[in-house]
Amino acid sequence: PVTLSPQQHGIDPRLVSNSAVRVVRILQNAGYDAYIVGGAVRDLLLGLEPKDFDVATNATPEQVRRLFRRAFLIGRRFQIVHVLLGQDLIEVTTFRGSSTKPALKDEAGRLLRDNNFGTQEEDAARRDFTINAMYYNPANQLLLDYHGGMDDLKNRTLKIIGDPEQRYREDPVRMLRIVRFAAKLGFSIDQATCAPIASLAPLINNVPSARLFDEMLKLLMCGHAMSCLKELRTRGLHKGLLPLLDVALEQPQAAHFIEIALGKTDQRIRQNKRISPGFLFAALLWTQVEEKWAQYRSDGEYPIPALVAAAGDILDTQTEKLAIQRRIASDMKDIWLMQPRLERRTGKSPYRLLENERFRAAYDFLLIRCEAGELDPETGQWWTKFIDASAEERQQMIDEQM
Ligand code: ATP
Ligand code: MG
Repeated sequence: PVTLSPQQHGIDPRLVSNSAVRVVRILQNAGYDAYIVGGAVRDLLLGLEPKDFDVATNATPEQVRRLFRRAFLIGRRFQIVHVLLGQDLIEVTTFRGSSTKPALKDEAGRLLRDNNFGTQEEDAARRDFTINAMYYNPANQLLLDYHGGMDDLKNRTLKIIGDPEQRYREDPVRMLRIVRFAAKLGFSIDQATCAPIASLAPLINNVPSARLFDEMLKLLMCGHAMSCLKELRTRGLHKGLLPLLDVALEQPQAAHFIEIALGKTDQRIRQNKRISPGFLFAALLWTQVEEKWAQYRSDGEYPIPALVAAAGDILDTQTEKLAIQRRIASDMKDIWLMQPRLERRTGKSPYRLLENERFRAAYDFLLIRCEAGELDPETGQWWTKFIDASAEERQQMIDEQM
């Protein structure tokens, strides 16, 4: 690898998490190699504050676990160790390779199990993009660059390591990751890295739906959701992720609503404010719910049962492809079902709504509907005022509705 000095890489040590430094030091003092790696290094080089820190080491998961008081082996596709220090969680992974034992692949070439330990060099080679394969040693502040990541970073280019087609076949999620990084970092995608995506896009359908959901969530919560969705569509990767969203983006009215909703959530995320996944998915699928709702009503169903039925239909259709977790689905339903109640504003109903734990989300949702022009802005303004009003004013506001 190329070794870069602090003058050459320019990482600001003050942006490096103390906990990550401690984890590395403890591993090194025990005689192991240890580095900060992956997305954290990439973000540090870009002068961004990393949202989490990963550490890579030649110690086995069991050896890592024994060095820390609060450390847990997490077995996903490969074993990693979660080390807890104070409020921080550091993910420690053992260098992985694939040379010793052949990894288990499915007929499309997708890696099913990949728990072979390897050298640092092999570990670098199995990472996805060149800018994600650099190792930083906080002890001597040297940076190890195995695949020309530093140059690609300077040229603001995403380049996959190894043979692009083979790497996407191993793990089709890499195609989604590249879209996310391109949108989030504003990087362009290297020609050869980009080329096979169009024809390999359908491989996304082989990925287990829980993993797809995780990735979709990362995409929607990266602060650049709208550009991600656009990029997904350009690359033909949107099919089958959110089948209904696919339809929605073709309809101008739905696309308008989604654009406003995602613009709002992007803004919140960039301000480090919380966004609930339920809110996001509720927004993405709302116009489809409305359409179904109208259908049920025109079939003679009462409004509320019609909405319940519509929400159920949409969730069922969606969940086939992309497993929306039960808790999130129930949040979505709450947000949707509260909409007509928020519009009513009579009797005791507004008070009860205020007490509801989903009120805030449902109210934010209502504001988006107002902004999208599907609802009189007066309704949103009424609630904004009602929230901060005194008991007396509140009663007066309700009486005025009669
Ligand atoms: P962020 O955390 O900002 O989303 P990240 O690059 O840190 O970005 P993680 O999912 O945290 O992404 O993964 C950490 C590192 O593990 C990556 O930087 C990359 O080196 C490697 N990695 C993650 N997912 C894959 C994958 N699907 N294929 C190959 N390497 C991967
Ligand atoms: Mg990360």
